[in-house]
Amino acid sequence: MNQDLKNLLKVQDFDQAIARLEEEREKIEQKEQKILDVIGTKEMQLKTAKEEKDAILKDKLFKEGLLADTLENLKKLDIKLNTSTSEKQLQAVNIEIEIAKTNKNVLEEKILSLEEDMDAKDKDIKELEDRYTQLQKTLEEHKTKFNERRREINVEIEEIKLNKEQLLNDVDKELLVKYEKLNKWTKGTSIVPVRKDACYGCFMKLTPQILTILEDTDEIVYCPNCGRMLYKEESDDDNG
Ligand SMILES: [Zn+2]
Repeated sequence: MNQDLKNLLKVQDFDQAIARLEEEREKIEQKEQKILDVIGTKEMQLKTAKEEKDAILKDKLFKEGLLADTLENLKKLDIKLNTSTSEKQLQAVNIEIEIAKTNKNVLEEKILSLEEDMDAKDKDIKELEDRYTQLQKTLEEHKTKFNERRREINVEIEEIKLNKEQLLNDVDKELLVKYEKLNKWTKGTSIVPVRKDACYGCFMKLTPQILTILEDTDEIVYCPNCGRMLYKEESDDDNG
């Protein structure tokens, strides 16, 4: 096998290792983002629930004000009733009292129902807060693990890059340019072995001429179909 290609194959191994680590790092980012999204949703739900509770409370306070006015009015009507002299006056005051009493009952019922609504909202809020706390805890736990692994990955990548840099001194520059051009679309499979007389990148059968060149010479051979650099595996026979 061509020595330049041999060196370049090591470069490809490094590039593949870097790509795998970067992919893992990307997956960690996605997982972390997923948890953050769920937390964000819970935050929104919590905010909405609190706003709804505030609205109920406002309504309740308003109706309590109305009820206080009504009770005050009833007191006044009671005095008026006691001081009424004519039958007509009495009748009029009694009607007013009836109306005020109906209002009082309606308001009291409404306030009671609003109190029930508030209790239900409180329960919702409590549940949401518990879930939120739980999620924050999960995030913290994962974040520690994520950050640790991220740090490891970054160190590993730096190490590989350093090794790669050193190796690049031994790689033919022109060949490296070709490799990097190929790498833009092959994604780490620019140099592939020949297996069962086919290019292991695009799986096209190779012509006997190309196979002969690979077998007998030290030349760098490109797959006529996909353009990848080909090499013959050295270890065992071609029963692959
Ligand atoms: Zn090919």
